[in-house]
Amino acid sequence: MTGQRRTALVTGGGSGIGRAIALRLAEDGFATAVLDLDTEAAERVAAEARQKGHASLAVGGVDVSDRARVDEAVRQVRDALGPVLVLVNNAGVSATEGFLRITDTSWNRIMAVNLNGPFYFCQAVVPGMKKAGWGRIVNISSSSAQSGQPYMTHYVASKAGLIGLTKSLALELGPAGITVNTIPPGFVDTPMLRASEERGFLGGSVDHHAELTPVRRAGRPEDIAAACAFLVSEEAGYVTGQVIGVNGGRNT
Ligand code: NAD
Repeated sequence: MTGQRRTALVTGGGSGIGRAIALRLAEDGFATAVLDLDTEAAERVAAEARQKGHASLAVGGVDVSDRARVDEAVRQVRDALGPVLVLVNNAGVSATEGFLRITDTSWNRIMAVNLNGPFYFCQAVVPGMKKAGWGRIVNISSSSAQSGQPYMTHYVASKAGLIGLTKSLALELGPAGITVNTIPPGFVDTPMLRASEERGFLGGSVDHHAELTPVRRAGRPEDIAAACAFLVSEEAGYVTGQVIGVNGGRNT
């Protein structure tokens, strides 16, 4: 495949970290599929990439927890841009709730989006990657799964599950030329983080926490995109099953 344009699909590509990853992979020469539940957001990001001269398709209105929609979306991307050889499972939802207050509905929703979604997408794209003898999967987990986080048991459990999925799948797919890695971001300035700040769930402002971070700033979505760009590159072929923290030194 060297020299040919490969297709990358980024879930949750309409906002924050996913947006930065989609735009970075477009800059790096991938045809990008920007998939999001939020149709307008997906379209905005795909249009941004196209304005810069890159091939990009918005796939809006897709809930990653709906297997039938996931399969349909992957088919749509394959028909328009070719097989998905790079998958970035980034879409995620968070919630802050005391453990005893977590309902089945809340627990199941977080698991469905953060863990079932990546499971469905991996099953949908791996056959095409195997056929090509090449693939890159990057799962966006969370540094909270490394450290634990009070009042986020469901979220942290879902992200820890994603780390386990990454490690096991990497071992299974290595012989097929497919790498699987996870980036657990820590404290990245996105709409998700700002929403937590507004609701008082951060235990202080973003600025306050930036001062406590070893590199003395909050993360930028582009920091995560840069690590992702490396992991999906040709030269990262010997990196698989790894947890690549990008967190300003907050977790070591
Ligand atoms: P964000 O809320 O800014 O963006 C998330 C995007 O995912 C949105 O565009 C949203 O519409 C989309 N999305 C949500 N549910 C979806 C669904 N069911 N189907 C399809 N799309 C859906 O969040 P962000 O901060 O950019 O987070 C991106 C990822 O990084 C998430 O998985 C999050 O858990 C993880 N993360 C973020 C931080 C941080 O500090 N911001 C830290 C650790 C992990």
